[in-house]
Amino acid sequence: MEYQVVILGGGPAGLTAGLYAARSGFTTAVLEQTMAGGKIVNASHVENYPGFDQGISGLDLGQAMKRQAEKAGTEVVRTAVTDVTLSTHGPPGSAHIVHTADGDIQTTALIIATGSDYRTLDVPGEAEHLGKGVSYCATCDGAFFRGKKVAVIGGGDTALTDALELATFASDVIVVHRRDELRASEALQANARKSPKISFRWNSVVEGIEGDQAVTALRLRNTRDAIISEVSVDGVFVAVGSVPSTEFLGGSLSLDESGSIITNDSMETGVAGVFAAGDVRHNSARQVITAAGDGATAALSARRYIISL
Ligand code: NAP
Repeated sequence: MEYQVVILGGGPAGLTAGLYAARSGFTTAVLEQTMAGGKIVNASHVENYPGFDQGISGLDLGQAMKRQAEKAGTEVVRTAVTDVTLSTHGPPGSAHIVHTADGDIQTTALIIATGSDYRTLDVPGEAEHLGKGVSYCATCDGAFFRGKKVAVIGGGDTALTDALELATFASDVIVVHRRDELRASEALQANARKSPKISFRWNSVVEGIEGDQAVTALRLRNTRDAIISEVSVDGVFVAVGSVPSTEFLGGSLSLDESGSIITNDSMETGVAGVFAAGDVRHNSARQVITAAGDGATAALSARRYIISL
């Protein structure tokens, strides 16, 4: 199979790149492993995407982006990418090859928009209780904890968004943070502090997640005095950031220390005809709107590249 533009990842960055590339008249495919729309489909309510003054559900926003890209002529293909062979030595315009579970795909321009995966705590009991009280998605699993006591780990925007969402179901929400100062926006902090259901455990890190069949408690270590304590909870929502999905590149592009792809302002990587956009990119602002902007920029750069050949 062969396209002029192939985009890896069907989140806001990938679908916007697909929209722009297809509208430029190129044969375009977006390869997505699970559900097109990206992580945003898990957000119950997105309030900061311009144009939707009443907010919009993440699922509706992601699905609308997919429909718009397809309407423009992008093929959205569900497949798992295993690795890539980038053309670094051939004549200008030589095809890059994307290896997938369903066969190889050749492309003149490749846009990588694979986003990121949830960062794990890597503590005893975390993997064992996945789906049995441990979750990385409050929107997906919050309703299972109606009337129960839950903990949210982390101090960023995701942790507080999750805590506020969980407070609509749970009886108590304990935010466990490793410092005594939150990273989350002032607006989220103010809302969380107003909620009578939300409390904070400062300077605390998770040492383990206890329970037999289901989660029953969190083992915490105070970072100041090293005292270990146990807090009984029915659920643990881990919101400690994310790691870029770049392992399939196998060292073929320059990455920063966190594993994000290094690009210039035109989304060009160090390899001709290969671009990166969205959360997978070094210094991404990690917002839906900036991912979409990156996707548009990457597709316009891909267009310039193809036309120059
Ligand atoms: P983040 O900003 O990287 O925050 C991660 C949090 O987890 C930090 O508080 C960090 O602590 C903590 N943490 C990291 N590793 C840890 C570990 N091993 N153990 C315990 N705690 C750990 O990630 P995020 O909250 O997912 O947000 C990512 C991006 O998405 C941000 O740019 C954010 O603004 C954006 N976002 C926006 C919205 C919104 O606009 N409504 C919602 C969600 C996310 P430290 O603070 O000590 O580093």
